[in-house]
Amino acid sequence: MKNMRKDHLTVLKGLNLKITPRRLAVLKVLSEETMYVSPEELWGKVKDRFASIGLPTVYRILDELSEGNVISKIIHPNRQLYYFYCGKIEHHHHFICLSCRRVEDVDLCVAAEIEREVKGNLKGKVLSHILQINGFCSSCSIAGKKRKVKK
Ligand SMILES: [Zn+2]
Ligand SMILES: [Zn+2]
Ligand SMILES: [Zn+2]
Repeated sequence: MKNMRKDHLTVLKGLNLKITPRRLAVLKVLSEETMYVSPEELWGKVKDRFASIGLPTVYRILDELSEGNVISKIIHPNRQLYYFYCGKIEHHHHFICLSCRRVEDVDLCVAAEIEREVKGNLKGKVLSHILQINGFCSSCSIAGKKRKVKK
C-alpha cells in the first residue's frame, strides 16, 4: 500500500503551496475517486470526512492543483466542469466515459503532426494543446446496454 499522505505532502511542496489540512483533504478525497467528480460533489465528501470547508475554498484549491498539473480538468459536453486525479506524469490524454464517468489514459498524442501543420501552413508556434476524448467506455458501449449521457 502506497503512503498517499506522504505523496500528497510532496505534491504540495512541489507546487510551493503551504501544507494545510484543507489542501491535503481535497487532494486525498480526489485521489481516492475512480471517476471524475464535480467540485460540489467533492465538497460534500470533504465536508463529510474532514472539518468544515466552504465551497469557495474547494474551488480555489482545485484551481491551484490544476494549475500545477496535479489534477485534470474534465470539460463535459454538458458544460459542467469536473476534476480528476491521475497519477501519471508523462504527457497523455484522457478518454472519458459520458455515462459512467470512467477516465482512461490515452498515450497516443498527435501534437507533433498538428504542430507541423500550424508551423507550415499558419506560420504559428504551438505552445500547448488540450485534447480530451469523449465517448462511452467498453462496458457502457456493449450492444443493447442502455446508456445515457449523465447530466
Ligand atoms: Zn462507461
Ligand atoms: Zn491520466
Ligand atoms: Zn498531447
